[in-house]
Amino acid sequence: MKELSRVVSSIPPSETLAVSDKAKALKAAGYDVVALAGGDPDFDTPDYITAAAFQAIENGATHYPAPMKGITPLLEAIAAKMQADNGVTVKPGSDIVVTPGGKWALFLALSAILNPGDEVLYLEPVWVSYPPMIALAGGTPVAVTLSADDNFRITADQLRAKVTPRTKALMVNSPNNPTGRVITQEELDAIVAVALEHDLYVISDEIYETVIFDGRKHLSPAAVAGMAERTLTINGLSKSHAMTGWRLGWLAGPTPIMKLATQMNSQTVSSAANFTMHAAVAALKGPKEVTRAMCAEYQQRRDFMVPALNAIPGVECLDIEGAFYLFPRFPNSRRNSAELAEALIEKAGIASVPGGAFGKSGEGHVRFTIATAMKDLEKAVEKLAKVAHEI
Ligand code: PMP
Ligand code: GLU
Repeated sequence: MKELSRVVSSIPPSETLAVSDKAKALKAAGYDVVALAGGDPDFDTPDYITAAAFQAIENGATHYPAPMKGITPLLEAIAAKMQADNGVTVKPGSDIVVTPGGKWALFLALSAILNPGDEVLYLEPVWVSYPPMIALAGGTPVAVTLSADDNFRITADQLRAKVTPRTKALMVNSPNNPTGRVITQEELDAIVAVALEHDLYVISDEIYETVIFDGRKHLSPAAVAGMAERTLTINGLSKSHAMTGWRLGWLAGPTPIMKLATQMNSQTVSSAANFTMHAAVAALKGPKEVTRAMCAEYQQRRDFMVPALNAIPGVECLDIEGAFYLFPRFPNSRRNSAELAEALIEKAGIASVPGGAFGKSGEGHVRFTIATAMKDLEKAVEKLAKVAHEI
């Protein structure tokens, strides 16, 4: 048989999805597992959103949508949201494409700008799918390693050190998966300075925008002067409205890039699901209280979990500023992160993601999600406290 795709053979499967599947299978087989692996909100999608989807189905929104890149009320609702929440101006008719999930929006963004050999900077620890997506889109992933000892701070010098004549773009994600960091004004200034100095595109993944703690403000790179023409913004409803299974995200950015992204969308997935788009209009036009209430709950869980983990000898956990992941480390353990995750499931029945899945700098860490009911988080702490000395 002839050789299969080299690029696809070279990438790993998504470990976050793999461990989620594994935890669900163990639970279904009757094991007492606390699933802190995949990041999927434990809340139900709010009723007014599901009602809008049922209504749309009854109204016949079960065919191809028109326009394919997004129904007009949704494109308008996204543009209005970006103006109001992010201070970013985009034209609904030409600057947005609705995608089946934020993940496809990321892949479209990379595909629309990359040529073979182009390098893309990403910040490590990095969400599992960025480097494989860069490679699949024909680029070369280049890590900028951030340090847990410096609270994963981003500086202009760290970015500059990795820029070469082939650097095309920089990917940023705030609030961050897996570190829980939120980009500060100083860090945004650094990103903007380097992007302008070296004529880079910025891919800003804002999927956790609404999960942000202690009154912090989410900053969008596209809102900064001089950045709109070089920034591609990714967002979606998976996390903000507990809609992971609906597969609804979007990409927004400068018209010439969006033209290519729209072409690629039309030649691959065609569109997001029609009735899901109607549900998305309801979500975006609905009360902000819905996302605020979920955020308040995540914050309470963080307030419980971070001190509770740090009170366990041998466990160190930085505070988090947003998103719904904790990234603890086990400084006394000799195990690598895969062995740590294995030991946690075997000895404590806790499913986690090995930190190594987020790049070399994730070694020594595991990721726990707090998009999990409080009673399960309490159970996890109790179980971990009993076995931490063996880990
Ligand atoms: N970006 C980040 C950082 C994520 O963690 C995820 C996972 N949900 C996504 C994008 C994509 O989410 P989805 O495709 O479910 O909208
Ligand atoms: N983004 C979530 C996570 O990191 C869901 C799984 C995935 O899409 O990778 O766990």
